[in-house]
Amino acid sequence: MSELERKQDRAPVPADWTYAPAPESTDIVSLQDRYGLFVGGEWVEPASGEYFTTISPRDEEPLAGVAQAGREDVDRAVGAARDAFQNGWGKASAAERAKYLFRIARILQERSREFAVLESLNGGKPIKESRDVDLPLAAAHFFYYAGWADKLEYAFPNRTPKPIGVAGQIIPWNFPLLMLAWKVAPALAAGNTVVLKPAETTPLTALLFCDVLRQAELPAGVVNILTGDGRTGAEIVKHPGTDKIAFTGSTEVGKAIQRELAGTGKKLTLELGGKAANIIFDDAALDQAVEGIVNGIYFNQGHVCCAGSRLFVQESIYEQTIDKLKRRLTTLRVGDPLDKNTDVGAINSSMQLEKIAELVESGKEEGAEIYQPPCRLPEKGYWFVPTVFTNVAQSYRIAQEEIFGPVLSVLTFRTPDEAVEKANNTPYGLSAGVWTEKGSRILAMAQRLRAGVVWANTFNRFDPTSPFGGYKESGFGREGGLHGLEPYLKFDGETEEWGG
Ligand code: NAP
Ligand code: MG
Repeated sequence: MSELERKQDRAPVPADWTYAPAPESTDIVSLQDRYGLFVGGEWVEPASGEYFTTISPRDEEPLAGVAQAGREDVDRAVGAARDAFQNGWGKASAAERAKYLFRIARILQERSREFAVLESLNGGKPIKESRDVDLPLAAAHFFYYAGWADKLEYAFPNRTPKPIGVAGQIIPWNFPLLMLAWKVAPALAAGNTVVLKPAETTPLTALLFCDVLRQAELPAGVVNILTGDGRTGAEIVKHPGTDKIAFTGSTEVGKAIQRELAGTGKKLTLELGGKAANIIFDDAALDQAVEGIVNGIYFNQGHVCCAGSRLFVQESIYEQTIDKLKRRLTTLRVGDPLDKNTDVGAINSSMQLEKIAELVESGKEEGAEIYQPPCRLPEKGYWFVPTVFTNVAQSYRIAQEEIFGPVLSVLTFRTPDEAVEKANNTPYGLSAGVWTEKGSRILAMAQRLRAGVVWANTFNRFDPTSPFGGYKESGFGREGGLHGLEPYLKFDGETEEWGG
């Protein structure tokens, strides 16, 4: 690093380097005042008559009224899914199922701008991410699993794969449509029917998806969408008519679901939290690594279960890395998710904002050093400045607990052994990143890191062909790839392992 850069503790804000606003028009989205529940191919009122309002986190403005599904509604939806399973879908030819999945994939591509705008409006993520990541990946998952639908016998040779029945699926708010795609596509490809609950704060793309199902002429009852809060999720889990539960969300709720299902024989997969280590060795291409660090923790405001929230830097390159990282942070544009130049959008909800602020406070109190680039935040809405903590000890809460926000904790190491030991010192085990020029070191590290996914010289990279899932408190079961089909199938003559 040059003398000049080193002297400065805080890099200067590039004052003249402003971007003209580049707002994406929201005209393409037309919202109803109020949405019912999508059951048996129709919109129905919730039995309770209760609705709640979903807002936009960028300005706290209400977007639409959404139904709160209760026990009776869950019963109705599970009944519709059971009928659809028994009266056709479960027995439909595999090529027929593939046809619908291909249609859904193509319609998602055709309507991708509409979906991307709605995803950013309701969830707060930057439009460039929903446009370039969430939507293409959601369509890709439907294409990918459409391809498997009529090849299950080849996927699982000599095991006679059969659908399970009705799948209850519960998803979080950080990748609303993408999580829906991860769950619905393999379930349908395997011949199951679905009752899905989107998160309370981000129901709108799941509701728009019902219109895609109508366009694709998917038979009624094959996919049912129930909106509501955690109570709706709990009813889906408990209902005796759901044969399999797929849950993505917090470890706390995941544990409660596992307790609830113990002994019931229902299949279960859990995709839970994470506290990933992103490990930078001294031979890494540093500029690329810095981009990887930024992508690892500030992508989607850090609302990413596999976010690289613990950065491990080899001591010999520590200062250089932190200097470069701080400088890069000053160029991140935080603000309106609907602006095409925005890098970091709005925090999903006031509740999440509080949780982030509380953990950041604990970091300061425990003795870590905080860095936040100077940045102007919009007046309304929920925002958090991209944050880096240095001088972090492994015992600090910010090094142990999932923050699920744009907050990075930096630690150091000297040897690969120390890096592995520290990286694995977590109750989670979802993902990890390794940055080094040495192929042998990548393989050695990947073998020793207790994480479901290990990225090398990249981070947060997804592909429908690649399985994703955790160890330890990050859950069990895999989504994506061939592995992602297995939890939606049963096999002749094989005893079923609980927890599938
Ligand atoms: P959450 O509170 O566990 O919620 C997840 C989903 O479960 C939501 O739809 C939620 O409804 C519902 N739910 C809440 N209580 C429930 C209950 N008792 N029974 C059944 N369902 C219930 O998690 P979140 O705050 O939305 O999401 C953040 C968490 O998800 C983070 O910990 C993150 O790491 C994890 N996550 C993991 C992955 C992965 O693939 N491993 C991916 C994304 C997120 P409400 O919306 O009404 O609360
Ligand atoms: Mg929640």
